[in-house]
This record gives sequence, C-alpha cells and structure tokens, in this order.
Amino acid sequence: MNIRRNTRKVLLGDNLHGFVGIGGDSPVTVQTMTAGYTHQIDPCVAEIHKLAAAGADLVRVAVPEKKDTEALKEILPQVRVPIVADVHFHFQRALEAIEAGVHKIRLNPGNISDHAQVRDVIQACKARKIPIRIGVNEGSIVERRDKQKRAKELGAFFSDNRHGHLLAIMIAKLEEYLEVFEAEDFHDIVISAKSIDPALVIDAYVEISKRFDYPLHLGVTHAGPKETGTIRSVVPLGHLLCSGIGDTIRLSYANDPVYEVQDGLELLYVLGLRQRVGAELIACPTCGRIQVDLFKLVQEVRKKLAEEIRLPIKVAVMGCVVNGPGECEGADVAIFAGDRRGIIYVQGQKVANVPEEEILERLLLECREFEAKVKRGEAKLGEKRVEVTPPDPIGPLGSGWGRIQRTGLPVVK
Ligand code: SF4
Repeated sequence: MNIRRNTRKVLLGDNLHGFVGIGGDSPVTVQTMTAGYTHQIDPCVAEIHKLAAAGADLVRVAVPEKKDTEALKEILPQVRVPIVADVHFHFQRALEAIEAGVHKIRLNPGNISDHAQVRDVIQACKARKIPIRIGVNEGSIVERRDKQKRAKELGAFFSDNRHGHLLAIMIAKLEEYLEVFEAEDFHDIVISAKSIDPALVIDAYVEISKRFDYPLHLGVTHAGPKETGTIRSVVPLGHLLCSGIGDTIRLSYANDPVYEVQDGLELLYVLGLRQRVGAELIACPTCGRIQVDLFKLVQEVRKKLAEEIRLPIKVAVMGCVVNGPGECEGADVAIFAGDRRGIIYVQGQKVANVPEEEILERLLLECREFEAKVKRGEAKLGEKRVEVTPPDPIGPLGSGWGRIQRTGLPVVK
C-alpha cells in the first residue's frame, strides 16, 4: 500500500445531516445513488434511509426535472445523510437543488458546457459553501450536440490509439472546465473520470492525480450486473487505492444500490482504509472433507451477524476439523463442523459441541456474548490466536455433499 496522496479537502453537510470530509485527512468515503425517482418523495426517503443504514456516507439523487428539485425540499428534512444532486443538461436544476439545500452538486462537462451557466452554478455554490464534483465520463465526453465537433472527436477515436485519444480528450475537457472554476476562485472541487474500461479508469485517475491536487471520486461507470460488475469495479479501484489514489468511491451495479455500499465498504475494510463496523466473516470454500451443509450455514450466519453484531468480531465458519483450525487462526469465534455437528470455540477455548441444526443459534449466542464481554472490557478483540487441537472427525469425511444436494443448493460441477 502506498501512502495516500495528499489532496485538498472538501467538507459537506450540516448539523442535521452530519458532516463528511472528502480528501485531505478524511477517511475514504463510500457513496451511492438512489435507483428510484426523486420526485416520488416517500420511496426516495425510504431508499435514502436504507442506503444510509447500510453505511453510505453520502447519497446522490438524480434531478432531471423541476419536480425532482421541488421534491428535495421535502426529502432533505426527513433524511440524516448528506445529499448530492446529480445534474445533467439543465443548469437550472443545479440552481434549484442548491436553493433546496443539497450538500453537493455533480456537474458533467460533457453535457453542461456553457461557461456562463457553469459560472452561475459556481457562484450559487460559493455563496452556500457547497462543493461541486466535476464528473467526466467516457460515455458523455465526446461532443454530442455539435455534429462537426463530434465527427472530429470520433475520428480521433478510430486512429491508432483509441485508449490514448479517449484519455487525452477526458483530460483536455477536464482542464478546460477547471479553468472556469479557477477563474471564479472556486476550489471546493472533487474530480471523477469514469469509464467502463478498467484500464482506462486506472490511467485516467493516475494522470489526473499527477496534475491536480483536488480529491478524487473513483468509479467505473455502468459496471454491469453485480455478478460481473464487482470484478470490473474492484480491480481498478483496488489498484488505485493501493497506489494511494482515491478519496471517495462509488461502485455502479445494475442492481439494488445497497450492494454498492456493502461492497464499497468491504473493499475499504480489506485494504485497511476504514475501521470495520460489524463482524468479519471468514469461511472455508468447502472441499471433499465437508461434513455439514456449509454454504447454507454461511449465508445464514452472514445475514444474522449483519443484523446483530456491531463490533468487528472475527468469526470463522469451517467445514471440517482437519484444516479448519489452521485456516481460521486469529478468529474470535469459530465453528468447525464434525459429522453433522459443530464444535464451537471462543478465542481458542472449546465452548460447545452441538448437532448441525443447532449450530446457527449457538454460534450467534456465543458471538453476542463475546461482543457483550468486549463491551464490558472483559475480553479483547483478536487477543488470543486459535490454538485448537482438532478432534478426530466422527463419520466419513465428505458426507456433507449429499446433504447439500438434497437441500437443492446449486452445486457447481
Ligand atoms: S476447512 Fe475442511 S472442508 Fe473446509 S476447505 Fe478446509 S479442509 Fe475442506
């Protein structure tokens, strides 16, 4: 891991919604965007609550129409997380959103290019101390309205180096746009430069980080369904974050945005860029030694831990006693499956041996009690390494596979 790049810092929020810093000495933040219509006030408020509860540090909403910016006046008093208005094409929407009290504006140089309009938005933000994200997207950066300009830019795409030309256009448009902000002495800026191409995302942010000291919002635009979008997003974002680049992140899935928040946070946790909230679950991938229906158990444990545990307890769910103890060293609470049984350890001490159908409840009980002990100061997280002498497995190893197949869970062959 490289040391995080030193950037300017922007601050957004207020007393009602809380304050969030981006860049400078602030931790890397996770953000997402509502999937529903902003003008449908109650569902929009409910979605913002859900995303904030999942851990989003700030939530963005689209404001394509006047009825959306009007809805903001009713939405903002009901939510408790800073709100960003996403503005495309109509600079008036930005002015209306600022008037409604949003905490940050996102502008796209690809579709609001009239400098007089941009200056109006800058002045309105300056008056209220609201930061602006300048969001350059590969998909909208090429001129759309002026056919001659578009033909010229597209011509460049099909010359030798498509990637290089796209990068050059993104940087050039960003520089040109930034000049308007800097001429107004406005520096509460966050920059993003997204693409669907992970390699272009890496190159764009590396290049931008060399040229500007503004904080960077990382993202891969339109990453696709979660199943494949995770890899497409996490590879370039992980690479950049490990290089010390990036101050706020958004994953973009064609799915419920709550997954964007969960995965974004997990990325920051595993890179050590944020203090984990809630339990950390490790689980074995299973193999021919498995003796219980581990896939089902892991999903149930994951769901319950997310609902109930707030401290970063390390919990291990292992399919057998042969390699499990070694594979979960350092776990605070661990279960190793025996022959349709679970042997449960708390910081290395065996506390229970229960039949398979009781594993979930007993494991959760031990997690709750351990968390309570930590809160009372009677135990410390990660204090004792697991030193388990595995008991002899009872019953033939591998006997859990038949059980998995009977439950109907998909078995990859
Ligand atoms: S813990 Fe046991 S079942 Fe799980 S992968 Fe390791 S050896 Fe296989």
